[in-house]
Amino acid sequence: MALNPDQLARFRSYMAEKLPDFRCFACGHDHFETGEIVAPLTILPDGTVPVRGDTNPELQVRCLHCGLMLHFDAHLIGLRS
Ligand SMILES: [Zn+2]
Repeated sequence: MALNPDQLARFRSYMAEKLPDFRCFACGHDHFETGEIVAPLTILPDGTVPVRGDTNPELQVRCLHCGLMLHFDAHLIGLRS
């Protein structure tokens, strides 16, 4: 799910408050784009993937210079309840 304008504003506010000097730790550039809110799959010890269960939604953020993908906790940012 891509961010709507309100979510994008919240993410930008979060970054300005918490990480005002944030730069890509791989290449040092500071140009990023947000992607989708995703929920990574959990693989159980027996190798199966549960169909239901708790997930921890993450916001994808991509460095536009080197392509490094970062994931931010969507709950902590305030994008998901
Ligand atoms: Zn980078």
